[in-house]
Amino acid sequence: MKVKFLDLQELTNKYNDEIKREVCDVIDSGWYLLGERVKKFETHFSDFCGTAHCIGVANGLDALNLILRAYIHQGAMKEADEVIVPANTFIASLLAISENRLKPILVEPDIHTYNIDPEKIEEAITPKTKAIMIVHLYGQCAYDERIGEICKKYNLKLIEDNAQAQGADYFGRKTGSLGNAAGTSFYPGKNLGALGDAGAVTTNDEELASLIRMFANYGSRKKYVNEVKGINSRLDEIQAALLNVKLKYLPADTKRRQQIADEYLSNINNGKIILPKVIRPEGHVWHLFVIRTANRDMLQKHLSDRGIQTLVHYPIPPHHQGAYAELRNSSFPITEKIHKECLSLPMSPVLKDEEVRYVIDAINEY
Ligand SMILES: *Cc1c(COP(=O)(O)O)cnc(C)c1O
Repeated sequence: MKVKFLDLQELTNKYNDEIKREVCDVIDSGWYLLGERVKKFETHFSDFCGTAHCIGVANGLDALNLILRAYIHQGAMKEADEVIVPANTFIASLLAISENRLKPILVEPDIHTYNIDPEKIEEAITPKTKAIMIVHLYGQCAYDERIGEICKKYNLKLIEDNAQAQGADYFGRKTGSLGNAAGTSFYPGKNLGALGDAGAVTTNDEELASLIRMFANYGSRKKYVNEVKGINSRLDEIQAALLNVKLKYLPADTKRRQQIADEYLSNINNGKIILPKVIRPEGHVWHLFVIRTANRDMLQKHLSDRGIQTLVHYPIPPHHQGAYAELRNSSFPITEKIHKECLSLPMSPVLKDEEVRYVIDAINEY
């Protein structure tokens, strides 16, 4: 048997007819940017997250970048201020901070949940700290009351990197609505994936939303009137049209991911494998199912020999990347251990029961 890590073609096929109809309607409409489909998607996605506002942008990195940019414009932070971020995140979280000439301050994750360790945040705070960017990594909600309290106590903005966790729940509230503002990504492989690049900001802050919309559209609220030096970062009508289709099915797709995760969690039984820790079942939408094992490459080969494709998220932590040479001498042992030992098993709503069973058996044989 061959088991793909994520079969994007199969995933798109599932909604093929409906997507094609919507996309063709856009083509025929003659209107491709800043139109009705984007507006409709922004309304649907903000309803879905439970926020007052959603601004469609070109990708997830821009979403995070624009949030910080708007805060700088407001005077809530300035060049060289610090933003706390988990050390084991995907590099985009850090890049958004650096792009704004802010300084990323890395904090270790909890080794079992892979999310930022709330107990280690306070010791990283300095007078320059202006925000905490939590990342709902692998699809698990990273928020907890302790983080909310720290933000209150030190008057910090709470920004969510919600790229991997659309639809994750925190006691009835959705990720994307838990902080002051959230950036998300609709990169094709994400839980809510477009067929190309796309992203969004969600927030309840009306003034911030309005600033971000302006910055994303050439710094303009009114055509050819440019109040600030903005950028071009817009969600286009074609992506919005198909995201409207896929958003309808996201709850069902999430349920399927949760079912598969339950199967893995209940049936993988091998002393060499450490399973991910789930805080609350509704709080995890399983963008990725990430296990740890001492000889990761050996396990990966064992599975690959049996036709099972796995990936590593991520092989090199940000502080060991050339892009962050200034952090090369810092040490984050938990992060480094995760990067050395983690392996992502096949996970997607189109994975079949027999494929899940096959993966479980192959791991138990290892
Ligand atoms: C995918 C991702 C991003 C960036 O999204 P793009 O749409 O690729 O720019 C940011 N943060 C995290 C955690 C991601 O997984």
